[in-house]
Amino acid sequence: MYAVNNVNIIPMTTDNKVIENATIVIKDKKIFSINQPIPVNTKIIDGKGKWLMPGLIDMHVHNLADINFSSNYPTKGATLFTNTQDFMLLYIANGVTTAFELSARVEHFGQRNEIINGKVIGPRIALAILIEGGDGSGNAANTPADGRQTVRIAKAQGYEFIKLYSRLNIETYKAIIDEAYKQGMKVIGHIPNAFKGRLEEAFVPHFDMVAHAEEYAKQTDSFTGQDAKRFAKLAKENGTWLTPTLITMEKIAEQARSLDGVRNLPSLKYVHPLMQSKWLTSNNYNNGTNPERVAYFEKLINFHVLLVKAFKEAGVPMVAGTDAGTSGVIWGYSLHDELELLVKAGLTTAEALASATKLPATWLQIDDKIGTVEAGKFADLLLLDANPLDNINNTRKIAGIVVNGQWIDKEKIDMMLLDLEKRNNANKDKYDWGKRAEY
Ligand SMILES: [Zn+2]
Repeated sequence: MYAVNNVNIIPMTTDNKVIENATIVIKDKKIFSINQPIPVNTKIIDGKGKWLMPGLIDMHVHNLADINFSSNYPTKGATLFTNTQDFMLLYIANGVTTAFELSARVEHFGQRNEIINGKVIGPRIALAILIEGGDGSGNAANTPADGRQTVRIAKAQGYEFIKLYSRLNIETYKAIIDEAYKQGMKVIGHIPNAFKGRLEEAFVPHFDMVAHAEEYAKQTDSFTGQDAKRFAKLAKENGTWLTPTLITMEKIAEQARSLDGVRNLPSLKYVHPLMQSKWLTSNNYNNGTNPERVAYFEKLINFHVLLVKAFKEAGVPMVAGTDAGTSGVIWGYSLHDELELLVKAGLTTAEALASATKLPATWLQIDDKIGTVEAGKFADLLLLDANPLDNINNTRKIAGIVVNGQWIDKEKIDMMLLDLEKRNNANKDKYDWGKRAEY
């Protein structure tokens, strides 16, 4: 049993009134009480001058798990074995207590079990299976019957959500969404390329979320505020939420200009050395880049801001997601960048915090368990040295977190990070992306 006393709680409930100088008791992984007497034999954590909020939720990630490299990689035939704790530490160090995996494979169930069984300290993980059209790589479906069957198989295998991808044809797309609804699975997706010029038709009932602002940007060539408003209206009328993933395009544009930004990222040293090597030596955004490519990405960045403003004005819920796993977008760390960008694009700090706590919990249908600080909910908590409502960058000032019932303070996080950095540096030569290596 733990208690944090003298702390300012940002509950993220509907009225979100800060509870000043409060005492919160955590028992059996849950919030036992707020401002009630502290039971005996409780470990006390001093919260004086600190701020307690719900743990953060990243609604768009691609987690590193064991991979067999296929024939189109220079490391073909090699298997990368991922140390789950090393990987999940990136989330823990950043107060991320839930992550939504948007191209889930069977290996991600294994990782999740390691966390649930307490072998690894890590976030909750929601799993979406990706269904694509086209040539049959991965889970492909090119007819409505195949689409429905793929959804039913995914359901039986334990996946919870469906992710739609760009090359699905129109009829298959509609069949997948319909079947997913029948199976009780929510749907997030790209907007398939086939809808270009007929976007309205993509907004069928139970198309629950668009996974990137870019999916809208791809539907226009003019990038005007009027376009943004038209898209916001479609989304609002259909009840389709948005994960803008602003940081993804920022990083892509940066890499199209130069790889120095990635090279100099302070958190790069915590990334698996194979991915470091890949991002710096085999970078698709930088290879063969030119001024036109950079200019196009910069246009998208500006349009994404217009989209966020229009969606806010239209009242379409937006949630924070990073597309972490894209080169240069580092798991955990990038979520704070996303929150900063959402505020720059026009959200209030409270709205930005809601986009990474209460709102994603609601979309994932686990808002009865997490997303707010209330007695009875799971104690997924983030303790901060400064008030994030004053300045969104204060979400980076982490004093400690509670995850899976465990209190982990900054000292412990820093120790684990230092150890990871040392081992990553020692393994750099072994994980050269350009060489065929046996891992
Ligand atoms: Zn993605």
